[in-house]
Amino acid sequence: MHVLVTGGAGYIGSHTVKELLRAGYKVTVLDNLFRGHRSAMQHLRGADFIQGDIVDRELVAELLKNRGIRAVMHFAALSLVGESVANPSPYYQNNVIKGLALLEAVREAGVPYFIFSSTAAVYGEPEQVPIEENHALRPTNPYGATKLAFEEALRWYDKAYGIKYICLRYFNAAGADPDGELGEDHRPETHLIPLVLKAALGIYPGVTVFGTDYPTPDGTCVRDYIHVTDLAAAHVLALQALEGGLPSAVYNLGNERGYSVREVIEVARRVTGRNIPVKEGDRRPGDPAVLVASSRRIRKELGWRPCYGDLETIIGTAWEWYRLHPEGYEN
Ligand code: UDP
Repeated sequence: MHVLVTGGAGYIGSHTVKELLRAGYKVTVLDNLFRGHRSAMQHLRGADFIQGDIVDRELVAELLKNRGIRAVMHFAALSLVGESVANPSPYYQNNVIKGLALLEAVREAGVPYFIFSSTAAVYGEPEQVPIEENHALRPTNPYGATKLAFEEALRWYDKAYGIKYICLRYFNAAGADPDGELGEDHRPETHLIPLVLKAALGIYPGVTVFGTDYPTPDGTCVRDYIHVTDLAAAHVLALQALEGGLPSAVYNLGNERGYSVREVIEVARRVTGRNIPVKEGDRRPGDPAVLVASSRRIRKELGWRPCYGDLETIIGTAWEWYRLHPEGYEN
């Protein structure tokens, strides 16, 4: 089975390509390298790399047809909450317009399976936690809104055209490849764990805690952090399930355990043994107070089990990668 992975040179995409190769799939990566890294591909030698854009209908059509691709895993998107609030336009352009161009190409080529990289941001401010998949969908930022728009397109495309899909709604992806080959390198970096670890390395001046007046035990936001390799493994399970005839589905992916911003910083201090300068700041627009997943559905239906679930391991694997790659990938 040959799989096209869009955004396969990015953070979650590259870790998933590694798991797909390990599971014996043939993989073609399509990435425009706007946020992905060519050097990540050097560690994914079994995969074919094509630099290009998902909106390039001719290129995508040719790849799907000539390579006999039977499944698309779609990671290529913008994914920063704060950036999306300040500037929604590229979020609609990339996540909706370009995404739909890809979906059209998939429909025309008759590709039967589609796995979509979605997010807990589709839920918005939770009415109850842990969040189950049938929770109301009311995103509080354009990032979540654009991911939800694409999920809805998939639902209708399945009904009308029979494209079988699985949406994986990630909570907070973190950590790095336990083999130390792949890691997290966003430019600009805005995520909590990378910034905390860069502060520990002394290459980032200090972490600002975004809001200390949330209705949470210590006043800071609570998130459910999940190891990127556990996420990657879920994509392989999802594809195998579709191949085995499972109907289209939506699954949360998290560890069902929330950590506050202050707790994350404390664990990072322990894991690194370094000083991490911290200051308190205002809330970041668009951030819900608490996001914790129920992952019961994917555990039950696909047998997914996290291998790197505890926060020490998540931060520890990220720390190993940053120590060796303080400036991230070479290119
Ligand atoms: N956060 C923070 N300071 C930072 C970056 C993030 O306090 O410099 C907080 C943010 O408000 C959120 C949590 O850390 O509550 C995780 O944010 P991140 O950007 O890592 O992921 P997101 O939840 O946006 O996907």
